[in-house]
Amino acid sequence: MNEQAIRTVVQEVLAKLGKPAAAASNAPRTNGIPVVKSGGNSTSHFTPGPQPTSGRDGVFSTAGDAIAAANGAFQELRKRPLADREKVVQIVKQMCEQNAQKWGQQELAETKIGRLDHKIEKLQIIKRVPGTEWLKSNCYSGDAGLTVEEFAPFGVIGAITPVTHSLPTLAGNIINMVAAGNTVVFNPHPSGARIACDGVQAFNRAIKAAIGIDNVATIVGEPTIESANEIFNHRDTKVLCVTGGPAVARAALQARKKAIVAGPGNPPVVVDETADLDNAAKSIITGGAYDNNLLCIGEKEVFAVNSIFDKLLDAMGRHGGYRLNAQQIDALTKLAFSPPKEPGGHAVLNRDLVGLDASVLAEKIGVRVPAGTQLLFGETDTSNSFVPEEQMMPFVPFVRAKDTMHAIEMAYEFEHGFGHTAIIHSRNVHAMTTMGKLMNTTLFIKNGPCGAGLGLGGEGYLSFSIATPTGEGVTNPLTFTRVRRCVMVDELRVV
Ligand code: NAD
Repeated sequence: MNEQAIRTVVQEVLAKLGKPAAAASNAPRTNGIPVVKSGGNSTSHFTPGPQPTSGRDGVFSTAGDAIAAANGAFQELRKRPLADREKVVQIVKQMCEQNAQKWGQQELAETKIGRLDHKIEKLQIIKRVPGTEWLKSNCYSGDAGLTVEEFAPFGVIGAITPVTHSLPTLAGNIINMVAAGNTVVFNPHPSGARIACDGVQAFNRAIKAAIGIDNVATIVGEPTIESANEIFNHRDTKVLCVTGGPAVARAALQARKKAIVAGPGNPPVVVDETADLDNAAKSIITGGAYDNNLLCIGEKEVFAVNSIFDKLLDAMGRHGGYRLNAQQIDALTKLAFSPPKEPGGHAVLNRDLVGLDASVLAEKIGVRVPAGTQLLFGETDTSNSFVPEEQMMPFVPFVRAKDTMHAIEMAYEFEHGFGHTAIIHSRNVHAMTTMGKLMNTTLFIKNGPCGAGLGLGGEGYLSFSIATPTGEGVTNPLTFTRVRRCVMVDELRVV
């Protein structure tokens, strides 16, 4: 055996024993978690990733190899009928449903953020992501002949996935992208890389068995910022699809190729005096507590008008929320954020608190909450860091507004122009319209929880990549296509 082969065997044995390999264990650590540097509040935990098993069922140790393999798969896939793409779509949907329990547990064990019931559910609902049925051609028929517009693939897509929904984002991306005829190379979040690699391997084995093509989806086994940059800049990745926070969104927007950017949000909720307060409270808890508020669309701060403010907070208590007093909120805020590093800068989010259960978060400040508590909440003003920052933990601040317009103006200010998601609870159509126009967000939800914006309790389809600054909206197969026009002059028209 040569040295590399011995190292691979040792790494595989260590991986089976659940021990970090040398490269990972040498990395700098915080609280036992190795760290890679990146900007802003970007998640940078780096748990030991999967070991390099280059080329095994889609998992590669370098971005270059992963791109080359995905490109080879694209050259095969482009010769195949639509039916083969549909087989891939069905394989991913069925495997997510069948393995939801196991993979949900694995994702939670690896990332250590969020809730098991929702990790499982996010895989069970992958079947709602649209596939090849979306590729309907446009036809123009007239005296001058017949023109058909069809939706063609780009080739290899470079995709970045977040730690908040590692496998669900990856699975949804494969469905959309392969339905459209592309193949894809992933650079997963380092803290969710193991489950992402397991998914890619399982999908690849099944896809190869069904249609005989290997590497329809490939992945970098030990992802880094450098491997992400290689994917961004490689000539064979034709388009980027980036799902993540501010740093990666910025990096993708600077890339010299088409980027579909599903960036950060800080969704505000407005509640006015005409709202059904019980429905508003139930909705805020359903959305804000989902996966411990990891969703980018999740309710992050509430602006409620003074006349119903106290009644709304009472309703929150009736529907599974636990109210913190001013002193407790102060203690939680000090734990959750450090002061900005420079004057006028952002408070720095304490990543160790992200995605914890409400009861665990409460324990951190010495509060024991009743069993079944889903969400912590309480009154703050806008200077509290939970209002401007995307906290991704189950505490939602409620701010008193003078009237509806004041609430809408604060919502506009604290969404920061991300153009992501905003929510209103109201029966006043004028208030809804005013807010919808001002916010100009990709999702604007009225009288329901945030999930309604992705077809979960509202109409529409699902995706875990909601393209915000680049404007494609809730991604679907057409997002990943080129529109091609095929024209026949004069002949062929039969009427
Ligand atoms: P994150 O930004 O920490 O990480 C996302 C990915 O980007 C990871 O793979 C990470 O390694 C990589 N990355 C980070 N900085 C990079 C850089 N400078 N260059 C290249 N790659 C880089 O985000 P996260 O904590 O995993 O996810 C949460 C964030 O993602 C939140 O801000 C949330 O709103 C957002 N998000 C958005 C959507 C959407 O559809 N719009 C969906 C899910 C999550």
